[in-house]
Amino acid sequence: MENPKRKVDTLDMSIARPARVRNVPGTRYTAAEIHEIFRRFRVQRPEPKGELEHVNPFTLLVAVVLSAQATDAGVNKATRALFDVADTPEKMLALGEAKVGDYIRTIGLWRNKAKNVIALSEALIDRYGSVVPDDRDELIKLPGVGRKTANVVLSMAFGQSTMAVDTHIFRIGNRLGLAPGKTPDEVEARLMKVIPSEFLYHAHHWLILHGRYVCKARKPECPACVIADICKAAEKTSEIPAPLVPLPVQVF
Ligand code: SF4
Repeated sequence: MENPKRKVDTLDMSIARPARVRNVPGTRYTAAEIHEIFRRFRVQRPEPKGELEHVNPFTLLVAVVLSAQATDAGVNKATRALFDVADTPEKMLALGEAKVGDYIRTIGLWRNKAKNVIALSEALIDRYGSVVPDDRDELIKLPGVGRKTANVVLSMAFGQSTMAVDTHIFRIGNRLGLAPGKTPDEVEARLMKVIPSEFLYHAHHWLILHGRYVCKARKPECPACVIADICKAAEKTSEIPAPLVPLPVQVF
């Protein structure tokens, strides 16, 4: 009897490459292959969610600032108690740098981050009426906020399609030849160009989760990879795609 759990999505045979179909400029893939990669990611995770806990755009901004060179799970552990007492710029400023530092002491670079959290709370109150701006150029003027942080906030808090290139996305873009680039900005620009618009909003999370759990830095787990037949990475170890089924939502 057929085990329903083993039922596998029929692979789209249209990705078979006719002789004259060209790669999308700047990538090692045809448009049909890129579409198929993201179609499969969507089957796996129809509604991917960011893993940083927050209760409003301000706490999201703080969480993202704290997450530089730290794990989301580690940040969540520290911010649960912090956001209970300070979920607005005013409350954060009133708490003060030393107390913020006490809450986030388990996070790397906590001294500097506590300083930035206070400085950005002050800047939000003074210059933006305590409201987190929904504009990248304004966000990156805030202390401790770079382009990657701004992109995460624009996507998660304001529903904008952005590509915040972290270590996983930078690696995947280059390893697969999907969006090769020497800098995160180059990889970001290329991904924004080559990913079909229907997939663009969630693409950032799909790529991060694929890099975190499957296409890992030291040893990619190709037998567990749903795009193994399409992937053109030099280090790939399997040509057979893993069964394409929706995955349980990761809980941290
Ligand atoms: S086949 Fe291997 S190298 Fe290619 S995307 Fe999958 S895990 Fe990464």
